[in-house]
Amino acid sequence: MTNVAIVTGGSRGIGRAVALKLGKAGYSVVVNYATNAKAADEVVSAITADGGKAVALRGDVGVEADVLNLFAEAAKLGDLRVLMNNAGIMDRQNRLDEMSTERLKRLFDVNILGSFLCAREAVKLMSTKHGGKGGAIVNLSSAASVLGAPGMGVEYAASKGAIDVMTIGLGREVAAEGIRVNAVRPGIIDTEIHDSSGIPGRVKLMRDVIPIKREGTADEVADVMMWLASKQSSYVVGTIVAVAGGRC
Ligand code: NAP
Repeated sequence: MTNVAIVTGGSRGIGRAVALKLGKAGYSVVVNYATNAKAADEVVSAITADGGKAVALRGDVGVEADVLNLFAEAAKLGDLRVLMNNAGIMDRQNRLDEMSTERLKRLFDVNILGSFLCAREAVKLMSTKHGGKGGAIVNLSSAASVLGAPGMGVEYAASKGAIDVMTIGLGREVAAEGIRVNAVRPGIIDTEIHDSSGIPGRVKLMRDVIPIKREGTADEVADVMMWLASKQSSYVVGTIVAVAGGRC
C-alpha cells in the first residue's frame, strides 16, 4: 500500500520545501493550500517531474468541512503515515489593543483550530487503536511562543503556545498507538509570511537580534521536519525542536 503524507499549506514557504522532500522520499504527497492553486500545482509538477507522486487539494484548515474532505481524499490514496501540520497565518504587526475581534478569531481558527482538526483526523487514520499503521505528526510552533512577540503579534505567539501544549499532550496521548507527535519551533525564516506584517524587509531587519546573524531558510526547517517524521527520531516524542539560529 502507498504511504501518504499530507502537508497543510504545502504550496509555499516551509510547507513547499517539506513537500518536495517527502516526494523525493517516496511518499504520495497531498499538497494542501487555501487559495493559490497555481503555487500548489507548481509543487505537484516539481514532485512528479522528479519521479514522485503528488496531488494538490484545496481546503481551508480553519473550516471543518474542508479538513474532513482533505483527509477523506488522502485516505483514498493509501495509508496516511505523515501529517506536516504546517498551515498558519500571521497578521499585521500590531499591539493587542489595536486588534479587532475578527482578526483574533480568524487567526485562532487557522492556527489553533485548524491544527487541532488536522491532528484529530490524522490520529483517526494513523492510530493502531483505530486499525491504522501508525505515523508521525509534525506541528509548526514558532520562537514567538517563547518570546511572546510584544508589539508584533501576541495573538500569533499565543496561538503557537497552544501548539506547544498540544504537541506535549497529544504526543503522550497517542505514543502507545504508533504515532509520534513532535513540533519544530522556527525562528525568522525567509518566506512570504512576513509580507503580512506590513513591515517591508522585515526578515532582513531582524538579522541583528539573531545570534547566528542571519535568517533561516525553508529548507533548513524542512530538514528537521523530515528527521522528526523519520525512523532516525524513533524515540523522540512530544518534543519541540528549535530551528531558530539561537534566538529562542
Ligand atoms: P507562508 O510562506 O505564508 O505559506 C503559508 C502556506 O499555508 C501557503 O501554502 C498557504 O496557502 C497556506 N495557508 C494559509 N492559510 C491557510 C489555510 N487557512 N488553510 C490551508 N492552507 C493555508 O508561510 P510559512 O512561513 O511557510 O509558514 C509555515 C508555518 O510555519 C506556519 O504555521 C507559520 O506560523 C510557521 N512559522 C513560520 C516562520 C517564518 O519565519 N516563516 C517562523 C515560525 C513559524 P495559500 O497560498 O493558498 O494561502
